[in-house]
This record gives sequence, C-alpha cells and structure tokens, in this order.
Amino acid sequence: MKTVYSFGKGRAEGGAHMADVLGGKGANLAEMSNLGIPVPPGFTIAATLCTEYLRQHQFPAGLDDEIRAAMRTLETDAGRRFGDPTDPLLVSVRSGARVSMPGMMDTILNLGLNDETVVGLAEHSGNPGFAFDSYRRFVQMYGEVVFGLKADNGRDPMEAALEKAKEDRGVVRDIDLTVEDFQSLVKRFKQIIVAEGGVAFPEDPWEQLWGAIEAVFSSWDTKRAVDYRKVHSIPDDPGTAVNIVAMVYGNMGEDSGTGVAFSRDPSTGANILFGEFLTNAQGEDVVAGRRDPEPIVHMAERLPEAFRDLQDTCQRLERHFGDAQDVEFTVQRGKLFMLQTRAAKRTARAAVRIAVDMVAESLIDRREAVRRVQPQQLDQLLHPTIDGTADVQVLATGLPASPGAAVGMVVFDADTAEKRAEQGDAVILVRRETSPDDFHGMVAAKAILTQRGGMTSHAAVVARGMGKSCVAGCKEIDVREAERRFLVDDHVIAEGDWLTIDGTSGRVLAGKAPLVEPTLDETFDQIMTWSDEIRMLRVRANADTASDAERARQFGAEGIGLCRTEHMFFEADRILAMREMILAQDLEGRRKALAKLLPMQRGDFCEIFKAMDGLPVTIRLLDPPLHEFLPHTDTELQTLAESLSVPLDRLRHTVFVLTEANPMLGHRGCRLGITYPEITEMQSRAIFEAACDAAEQGVEVEPEIMIPLIATAEELRRQAILVRAVADTVFSERKRSVKYLVGTMIELPRAALTADEIADVAEFFSFGTNDLTQTTFGLSRDDAGRFLPSYVESGILPADPFQTLDRAGVGRLVGVGVGLGRERNPGLKIGICGEHGGDPQSVMFCHHIGLNYVSCSPFRVPIARLAAAHAALVEPGNACTLEEVTDDESVAFIQQSAGAGA
Ligand code: ADP
Ligand code: MG
Ligand code: MG
Repeated sequence: MKTVYSFGKGRAEGGAHMADVLGGKGANLAEMSNLGIPVPPGFTIAATLCTEYLRQHQFPAGLDDEIRAAMRTLETDAGRRFGDPTDPLLVSVRSGARVSMPGMMDTILNLGLNDETVVGLAEHSGNPGFAFDSYRRFVQMYGEVVFGLKADNGRDPMEAALEKAKEDRGVVRDIDLTVEDFQSLVKRFKQIIVAEGGVAFPEDPWEQLWGAIEAVFSSWDTKRAVDYRKVHSIPDDPGTAVNIVAMVYGNMGEDSGTGVAFSRDPSTGANILFGEFLTNAQGEDVVAGRRDPEPIVHMAERLPEAFRDLQDTCQRLERHFGDAQDVEFTVQRGKLFMLQTRAAKRTARAAVRIAVDMVAESLIDRREAVRRVQPQQLDQLLHPTIDGTADVQVLATGLPASPGAAVGMVVFDADTAEKRAEQGDAVILVRRETSPDDFHGMVAAKAILTQRGGMTSHAAVVARGMGKSCVAGCKEIDVREAERRFLVDDHVIAEGDWLTIDGTSGRVLAGKAPLVEPTLDETFDQIMTWSDEIRMLRVRANADTASDAERARQFGAEGIGLCRTEHMFFEADRILAMREMILAQDLEGRRKALAKLLPMQRGDFCEIFKAMDGLPVTIRLLDPPLHEFLPHTDTELQTLAESLSVPLDRLRHTVFVLTEANPMLGHRGCRLGITYPEITEMQSRAIFEAACDAAEQGVEVEPEIMIPLIATAEELRRQAILVRAVADTVFSERKRSVKYLVGTMIELPRAALTADEIADVAEFFSFGTNDLTQTTFGLSRDDAGRFLPSYVESGILPADPFQTLDRAGVGRLVGVGVGLGRERNPGLKIGICGEHGGDPQSVMFCHHIGLNYVSCSPFRVPIARLAAAHAALVEPGNACTLEEVTDDESVAFIQQSAGAGA
C-alpha cells in the first residue's frame, strides 16, 4: 500500500479530498500544489502509519524505500540534494492530523544541517549569519522536540542559554547575534543534549530525519495531545501524518519574513485581509510570540509585491475552497511561498457575516451558508459578553447554566433583590440554591449565582427561561445567607459589592467587568430567514408571561409550546389566594379561593393570546405538588396564619400533611386535577373566558389545553371531559366559541408505552422530556448533582441527559410514543417541550423521528430554528447520518415505530 505522497512544482499525488490519509495540512499542501500556488516541494507520510508505529514501535518494511524515492523527487524539484555539503537541501518536519490540533505538536525546521552542511549553506547563500542562525534554531528545536528537553514546567535549558547569549551581547532579537554567538550556542546546545538526553546529537541528516519522523508520530500520544482530543471529541485514529517540506527561508534578511493571515477578519467577518507578519524571521517566531509581529498592512509597505501575491493567493484559495482561509506563509528574498491553508476559525459574528457575504459573492449557496453557522455558536450573539480585551479577576467557576454576562451588586435574598431593583440598582442574586419562593427576586436580578444545583436546577431552568445569565453549582463559593456574604478562598464578598457573572463560561468575576452588548444585524436575520426556508420542524417557545411571549415572537417563535400556569401564582397578591385554596377545608372554601384566582389567570391568558395572535398557545394545567406554594420558616408561617386568620397549628399540620417523601412522584400533575376537579375547572374557565375575550377583540386564538403527568388513558379521559364541559358552558354563556385542543404531556414511561390508548383521547402530545428523563432513569434532577457530573466525567454517561436527550433510552421511549400515537391517530400533532427543545443535537433527533415542533426558552428559539434547518439539510434516508443522531440498534427500532404511523 502506498504510504508516501509527493507534492510540488504544480502537481501532487494527493489532494484536498485525501485529508483522512494525508491529514489536513498535507492534503491542502497537495491541493495548493495542484493549483499551481507556490508551495515548497515535499512529501507526506500517511497518518495511517502513525497508529501502526505507535502499536509496534517500528516502521513497516518498504517505508525506507518509499521515503528515499520521495526524497529523490524532492531533490529534483528543489534543485538541491539532502546532505550535500556544498549546497544542502534542508527540510521541515511537520505534524498534521485530519482535524487540526493547534500547537499540539511541534515542528522542526532546517533539518539536514550539521557542522559540515552549515558551511556549505553559509557559502552558497553568501550569508553566514543566516546559515548559523538556522543551524542553532535547528539544534535547539531538535533537542526540544526529539529529546524532549523542553520541560513542561517552563525550564528549558537551551532557551536559557539563548537568553544568556543575548544578554552577554546586549541585543534583544535572536537575529542580532553574531555568527560566533550562533556557533558557540550550537556547541552549547549539543552539550546540553548529551547531558540531559544522554545521546549525542545526530550529525547524519538521514538519522536526523528518522528521529524527527518518530518524534512526530510519538507526539500523537503525549498527554496534552490525548487530553486535547478528549476535550474536543477527536478520535484517536488514524493519528497524525508527517509532512517533509523543503525549507524556504524567512530569515535571509529584511526582504524576507514570515506570517499568518486570514482571508477575512476572523472576529468581525469583514472582507479584508487580516494577519501578522515578522521580517527576517522563521515560522516559529510568530507562533511562539518570541517577537511582537506587525499587522499585515505593514507588509504592504515593505514587500509590496509579495503582499499583492498574498492577497491574490488568499482570494484564489477562498474561491477554490469556498470558505474563508487561515494561511501560513514565508517570504524568501521578496518571493512568497505558501506553507499551509485551512478553513479559518471564527467568532459567531464572523461566521454569520462571512456566510451571508459569500452567498452575495456567489461563492456558496444559501443552504451551504446555513450549514456554515453552528447553532450553538449563536448563543454568543444573543447575549452580552465580557469584553475579551479586559483585565478581569476570576474568583470562581461554576456551571454555565444560562448564557450571557451581567454586572450587579450582590444581594442574598429575593425581597432585597426586588427592593433594590425597584430603586434602580443592578443586582445579582446569590443563593445557596433557589426555590420557587425566590422567583420575584430572580425576575428583579440581572443574574443569578448559586452554590448548589446542576444545569437543570430550579435556578438554571428559570434563568434560561428569562434569558438571564446564571452560574449554578459554583462549589468553590461558600454562601452564608444569614451573614449576608459569601466566601471564596480568602475573599469575602459582602452584600452590595460589585460582581460580574458570565453564564456562558460559568465564571464569577470580582468587580464590574466591561461588557459588550449583543448586536443582531441584518446578516443574522438573513441566516434566520434562510433557515426558516429550509427547516421542516416548527419552533415554539416555552413562555409563561405575555412579555416572554412577545420576546419569543421577536425571536421567531411560531407559538407557545409550554405555558406553565403555576408561575402565575407566585406573585405577591396571588400566592395568598393560592394558599387560601390549599388551606380550605372543604369544597366550598376551595371554590371561594379559586374564584379569586380566576380573574387573574384569565387576564394573564388574555394578554398571552394577544401576544401570540394567530399562533397556537399550549397551556399546561397546574403541575407542581401543592406544598411548593406553602411557606416553610416559622416567621413566614406566623405571618400567613395571621393574614388568613387560620390557627397556626392548623397551618403547620397542613404543611406537615402535604410534605411528600418524593414530591417528584407524588401528588402532582393531573393527579391534582383528579382529586380537586375544581382546580381544573377554574383553570379551564380562565382559559376559555380569556380566549373569548381575546376573540372579541379580534385576536385569533388557538388554545391547546395540556394535561400534565398522565400515566393512563383513563386519567386523561376524565380530565378531558371536565375541560370540554367547561368549554361548552363558557361558549354558551358567551354565545361564541373558539377552536381548541385537549392533549397531554407524555412524561412518564407508561404513557409512552401506552401512547396508542392515550392517542384515542388526546388531540396532541407534547413530550415533557425533563420529567421523562427523570422517570426513565429513576433519578431526580434536584439530587443528581451529587453524582451525575462524575458519571459524565468518567464516561458512564456520554453527556448530561438533562441537557442532551438520551437517545438510547429516553429517545427510544419518545420513538415508541410517536409510533404508537400516530398509529392510532395519524394526524396527531406532536412536539417536545423539555429543556432539550433548544439543544441542537436533540433538535436533530426530533426532526428525524418526525415531530411537528420543538419548544424551548425564548432565547434559544433562533438556535432551534438554525438547528432544525441543519437537521433538514442532512440527506433524508441516509442511514449513516441517522446513526449520528441516534444510537445503535435503537435506530432501527425508532424508524420502525415512527414509520408505523406515517
Ligand atoms: P503548526 O501546525 O503548529 O502550525 P507548522 O507545521 O505549520 O506547525 O509549522 C509552523 C511554522 O513553521 C509554519 O507556519 C511556517 O512558518 C514554518 N515552517 C514550516 N515548514 C516550513 C518550511 N518548509 N519552510 C519555511 N518555514 C516553514
Ligand atoms: Mg501551521
Ligand atoms: Mg413535567
């Protein structure tokens, strides 16, 4: 099998399509050669050899012959011979895997120099300074890379020797040392290699080459490379390729140099050449930041011709690859050589702008433009960020629970948050953990920081819903609510102190960090419009208030997929009526209290219907267990007893009775409506009256009433009868009717498994994947924080199932539910309203199993729209891509179940 591929002189044995074999760098060097772009000649040793070498620690027979043959071609192309003492061919030895791993593996330059060839290079170039500078660079790099003398603790004996030489000579730049300095440095380096590496520096160029090749292959297995791959989910196979490239010299004087450039500005996306350049330097100087490079425009003044060539080349490469490029180049005596090109990494802002611009320039089509923007990246655009150039002090890091950065003064309870916010202060609510009682404080705060809780803790879910930044589960801080301060290491942050929260990264910073506000320009709208043209999945929002609904609509939501009614009860004047209802001793008492809540709910629903004029609104009836509405501390109980004039004892007793050992599986969801039908009646009446009110005002309403936590079809049947009876009553009272649907959440495994029976009654399904994940795994997300992170870290679970839908288990239940539901009722509308609705991977899954819509928090709506477009761009029926979104045998299973009803 061929393992060595040559390139140079306008032709190559490989090309861009061979990145798997040649690595990204080698494939693109070959491609550039084929395009006739000036690339120094060279050859690439296939990455597939890397795995083999690492396993057996020896090279296959025949490799030697192949490399020697490739070297002969290279010598012919370069017009020099490797090891020639009069005019030596020098090469660089460069790593390059399929996926670029920046700075992971070191490059060796000027290989082929020794005491003899350096003299030839000096004489032939007529530039001894350059020759000996190259030699000392080579020996130093060789020592560092091949003999591992660059200690990770920063103690690099050769670097120290170089610093000393510059000090002795009184110069700042390496390049200003004299030939004698370089010569004695080379001697010194070789001594260091013997002393520390235990072997002599190899003078024979071929021995040098083999040593370098082995070092590149071995670098694939260094700890930092292994860690990097783990973090970025890069597979360990096939390893790295090795590129052997004829040297071009940027260190031949002031008419030479080296640089890196981006064909477009990688932070704004502006169509201008962006980059840095260093005169009289070799590649690693720029990369290592050894000297401060200059902005690329200066190159235009010093080396105008090479600069023009660079501009032309970048444009050509863009046109050829159809994407912005990140290039590395060297100028030797005024002539430009390209040494690398690859798709440029960019910010979200740049990604959007470049994609839209490139459509206008006819470089790519709209579908490709949409594909170029990563849904997850959009988070960067939708929230304020911390100014990247600012000097900031990170106090602690927690979970990045809700993106965006915010600045405010620290407060430790919800009431203070509300009070100070009313006075116009920006506040950050810091709590051990939050509970529904803290809701008003969270509304008032700019950001929320908690010591405990995971990504789906109360604080995180509520903050995401409001688009408010939140860092949760910040274990490093010690919150002392009673003392009104928190501790972190030896810092004390007291109430009123300024703090900055970065919910995108999970950082907590001391003081006021400068923020950059998000800017959504027309290029963003353009990408969104194109996404909408492509996607099939509808996107709704989870919104509990009219203002959330409005915002969701601005972000492009096509309806509300989940309106939680309980949040409406937490506001000050309402919670009292709610508590009165809970404490009532008989039906009559409950009805009386519910009558107080009715107009409030009706008003809220009416506003929401208006905000969503013409779009469907799914309203979930009361879901949480009643104890969540009752106070817990003695003083709060006392106050409540007084204001409702109930004996404190009775209140205490009620709290005691309502307390459940496992509230998640307790008296909640439809079970409340079954035992207290008057609650369902009141809520239905509020919805239908609001719908009639709104309709009277000319609003087009589409209410969808959703019964939560159904386990059996019979539960739903009974609740649906109640709801429909109320509808009939209200419609005859109002002498008008509105179209509505009654459906259910599928959030218990039994519901998914009996979805056919449930579909006989339900007019729609909405998968509540938060609860379905809890009940499928049998774990409560409030308690999962103690072990779930370590499950993910140690690989027991591939990801937090509350963030990314667990396809193999929960996904399978969803698949079964969809299949059975549609089998009985082919027109059944099906959506998902868990946190997963805004997770791109989960959106992909939802598309593939044929859901009608996903619903997510308002700020994630654009992400879901783009993710849905990405899902639709994946070729339908492409089994291999479906595998990417679904796990192993459940693929077939889900296809089968989903297909059953289609
Ligand atoms: P990395 O993957 O870390 O970017 P490279 O293999 O691209 O490493 O090498 C780093 C730098 O070394 C290049 O940007 C280039 O400036 C320089 N370099 C590599 N090969 C050569 C060569 N044949 N001639 C001149 N400079 C080179
Ligand atoms: Mg490079
Ligand atoms: Mg639920």
